[in-house]
Amino acid sequence: MTRAPVASREHPLLEVNALKKHFPIRGGLLGRTTGNVHAVDGVTFDIRRGETLSLVGESGCGKSTVGKAILRLFALTDGEVYLDGERIDNMPARTLRAMRKRVQVVFQDPFSSLNPRQKVRDILAEPLINFGMARGRRDLNAKVEALMDKVRLPRDAVDRFPHEFSGGQRQRICIARALAPGADLIICDEAVSALDVSVKAQIINLMVDLQDELGLALLFISHDLATVEHLTHRVAVMYLGKIVELADRRSLFAHSHHPYTRALLSAVPVPDPMAKRNRIILTGDVPSPINPPSGCRFHTRCPFVFDRCRTEEPLLRKMGEGHLSACHLDEVPGGQVLPNAA
Ligand code: SF4
Repeated sequence: MTRAPVASREHPLLEVNALKKHFPIRGGLLGRTTGNVHAVDGVTFDIRRGETLSLVGESGCGKSTVGKAILRLFALTDGEVYLDGERIDNMPARTLRAMRKRVQVVFQDPFSSLNPRQKVRDILAEPLINFGMARGRRDLNAKVEALMDKVRLPRDAVDRFPHEFSGGQRQRICIARALAPGADLIICDEAVSALDVSVKAQIINLMVDLQDELGLALLFISHDLATVEHLTHRVAVMYLGKIVELADRRSLFAHSHHPYTRALLSAVPVPDPMAKRNRIILTGDVPSPINPPSGCRFHTRCPFVFDRCRTEEPLLRKMGEGHLSACHLDEVPGGQVLPNAA
């Protein structure tokens, strides 16, 4: 399965501009602010209708914080978020409801995100009622059954409780609940990470089919490049609160520029067991987002680090059509050939 790029529209469905989220650290008897966790530090991207953008990086890189900031689960430190051209990050609480109808989320753990005391019928009816999507009991039941059809669960399972389903089936219920209000954008936060390989593939195929059928935009947050390879149109790679590379799927997987992306890609299993791949092993831990490294944030782990990296922050530069990368080596005249890892 390959995914063709999504054609440009007049304006993207979602625009995120220079988003920052710092969480204050409070300490002492008076609870004064003693520092900040720089969870997200100036992230910019957009998503078009019918497009999947994957936000990929190691645990703690800030990718889930980006998703939660778009959902307005907390206020931004700085930056702007637009949905269909309308600014939503500073929307007053009374008008947020319309935005929430259009932007839904599917989390990693379907069991904890479903009320164990509610039957599936009630779980799916709740958003339909809350957002005024059903006229009367008969219409409500028909819409609940249509949602079951959409996620390929049997209609007669609506009177079961979440614990009576497998992990993959529970994630289908979460997807159905996200579809219920007629969302335009679904944020999938590690939505398939906890599933077995074969179930993961089934859920990914379901998401792709739903996207094609409904024209959904997907922000797919994952720590794993292999998971997103066949699902995504574009990929943004995050490291310690910043996007270090952003490109369409084909370009990123075939011609990645940033050493961090290359390290992540080198860990992706290849189907042919005889095929050789030079694995780039990153040494050291991800530095603390409380006190991120100077210059390039990746310099403490980069196999290609040189003096400039320690003092000067590399900016995202255009490497090709729609392909951005933030590495000083990208400025090497006449090409983007990286030296081999030691
Ligand atoms: Fe590595 Fe320097 Fe490029 Fe950062 S700027 S990724 S440290 S080579």
